Amino acid sequence: MTTIDSTDHWCGASDPPAFARWLADRSAGCGAHLVPVLRAGRCPSGHPAVEVLRPPVRALDEALDVVGTPTEGVAVTLTVPLLQLAARARAGALELGALSVEEIGVDEAGAVLVADRPPGAVAPCRDDSASGTTPAESVTVPVGRPTRSPRDADGSRQLVLAARTVWDRVDARTPVREVLDPVLDAAVDGGADDVRAALALVLAASPPRPVRWTRPLGALFDDGATFDDGATTAPGQDARAAAASTAVGTAAGAALVALARDLVERGIPVGSTRRLPVRIALVGTLVTGGLVAAAVGVR
Ligand SMILES: [Zn+2]
Repeated sequence: MTTIDSTDHWCGASDPPAFARWLADRSAGCGAHLVPVLRAGRCPSGHPAVEVLRPPVRALDEALDVVGTPTEGVAVTLTVPLLQLAARARAGALELGALSVEEIGVDEAGAVLVADRPPGAVAPCRDDSASGTTPAESVTVPVGRPTRSPRDADGSRQLVLAARTVWDRVDARTPVREVLDPVLDAAVDGGADDVRAALALVLAASPPRPVRWTRPLGALFDDGATFDDGATTAPGQDARAAAASTAVGTAAGAALVALARDLVERGIPVGSTRRLPVRIALVGTLVTGGLVAAAVGVR
């Protein structure tokens, strides 16, 4: 995942009217799920140009790997904005540019963020000629994100596909999936009404729940052997309840041991990507305690 803010610079030379519509849609009420325009002006050659913020995000696939199997509520949180944007774009109410799946991300707060490439955009023109530049309006333009025309795809289609990817990860036995999956499939290449139908089903599926980055406990020991050993190495037991109870006890104990081992070996999770060594955390706690004691003593 990216960890610091970056910016993209785009020049609207190849289709200035479409580029201007895109910019107008980003300038007011674009919502929290589209990357914001920081500055708009002209490139050194006089074309309309923008600077767009790229906050740090995890790509959606990576985010789903970290989250594990999303609950319905998490899937609702992730897919409602995707489908809302897709529905607006299909209805002509939002100018959405080209988009590859890597440009759909999830930020630290668990919010979906879409970084589409403006329609008609090209990499910014370089300032190798003074012609056509109006100093008051000019935007300094370092080279932006490379254009990737072969991988670009219709933005709204990518958004619906991304929503489908999220729901694919939800437990297949979840009742809503039986109805929702075919509706989402129809919405991939359908019209605005098809996307709205999928959105209505998603909204009715569950209340939204926040995306939590901490790995589920089960992911700390992926092999699962700990559970199986307790459950299967009890020969001659006809009291299944007793065996199950033993297995649960063994599994819970093993889970605690595994968790403690993970904390010692890999550190205490801080945020979504960093871990603090246990030794440093303990020193920090002791120092803080000492300072508090000293402060109390001074008073
Ligand atoms: Zn230009």
